[in-house]
Amino acid sequence: MVARHIRGDRRYPLVLMLEPLFRCNLACAGCGKIDYPDKVLNARLSVDECVGAALECGAPVVSVAGGEPLLHHEIDQIVSGLIKHKKFVYLCSNGLLLEKKLDLFKPSPYFTWQVHLDGGREEHDHAVSLPGTYDKAVSAIRAAKARGFRVNINCTLYSGAAPQKVAEFLDQVKALGVDGVTISPGYAYERAPDTEHFLNRRNTKLLFREVFQLGRGRGWNFTQSSMFLDFLAGNQSYRCTPWGNPTRNVFGWQRPCYLLGEGFAPSFKALMEETDWDSYGTGNYEKCANCMVHCGYEPTAVLDTLSHPLKAAAVALRGPRLDGPMAADIPLDGQRPARDVYAKVVEDGLKQIEAKGGAETLGSRRQRA
Ligand code: SF4
Repeated sequence: MVARHIRGDRRYPLVLMLEPLFRCNLACAGCGKIDYPDKVLNARLSVDECVGAALECGAPVVSVAGGEPLLHHEIDQIVSGLIKHKKFVYLCSNGLLLEKKLDLFKPSPYFTWQVHLDGGREEHDHAVSLPGTYDKAVSAIRAAKARGFRVNINCTLYSGAAPQKVAEFLDQVKALGVDGVTISPGYAYERAPDTEHFLNRRNTKLLFREVFQLGRGRGWNFTQSSMFLDFLAGNQSYRCTPWGNPTRNVFGWQRPCYLLGEGFAPSFKALMEETDWDSYGTGNYEKCANCMVHCGYEPTAVLDTLSHPLKAAAVALRGPRLDGPMAADIPLDGQRPARDVYAKVVEDGLKQIEAKGGAETLGSRRQRA
């Protein structure tokens, strides 16, 4: 990555967002990923397709998301295939199947569980719309830690999150011995069952300033760069870097980013070369207006860190600034209006899946053989 930065490469990926399936065993109120017809939800990427995508894009890190990846019958082979190629794998899970499937995996410096928890018991169970989920996830975290795995928490905050409750939650997961917490505001998925509770940019910054203020001296360990945390606290006027975390799923390479599916490219090269990147991002497109999500802005923060190491070191030492004026935000008056592309995306995606033999992929054929 440093070599590519020094070489002056204009666009390159840092983390591959790999979605081997969209099917999930939860139906969270804030999720915009599982509202697909059954034929799409039943489709799977094969082991070869998953490993091939990682090699094709060349990102050093692969975040395996979904859907719930542990529902994929070959998830262990996907993970071991990626590790064989020295990819750092973060396997996202809601934790419901984690304990049951733990025997399929081995601890490795290349492997980290990324368990989804959006707050303490009450907040998380409410966010995922299923009581008991928090307790199962915490039990799975304890079991994974006892077996020597690295375990991170993936936490999304929505409007109405109380800073004091968030602070208590971060203390709880620290006491569990997790290795780090990835924290981010939710993206306002237009097809999420609950679209009322997404944060706008101003409220996101105010919330994170309060949470970070409460965190002073409490030793929370966030996985993100100090510059991204500074951005969340309102001190950086970043534009997103959507190609930094490209997404491969059952439709192909998603355009333009992990959060927004406006179409698909047949290859990583086509995604990078043929996407009209300037038509996306905050200030350019209405659907991007409130986005401050880590998969779009962490790559910007990392590139800023590489370009301005002294500034980044100062922020890392003192932490994000939590008072005083915020950095100017991107004006929204020139953004193009949102387009409704869902029906077209699903229609095109279904054609691709049918061309591959319906929901049956190489992986599912192999499994029956
Ligand atoms: S602002 Fe950037 S990262 Fe966020 S949805 Fe838009 S294109 Fe994606």
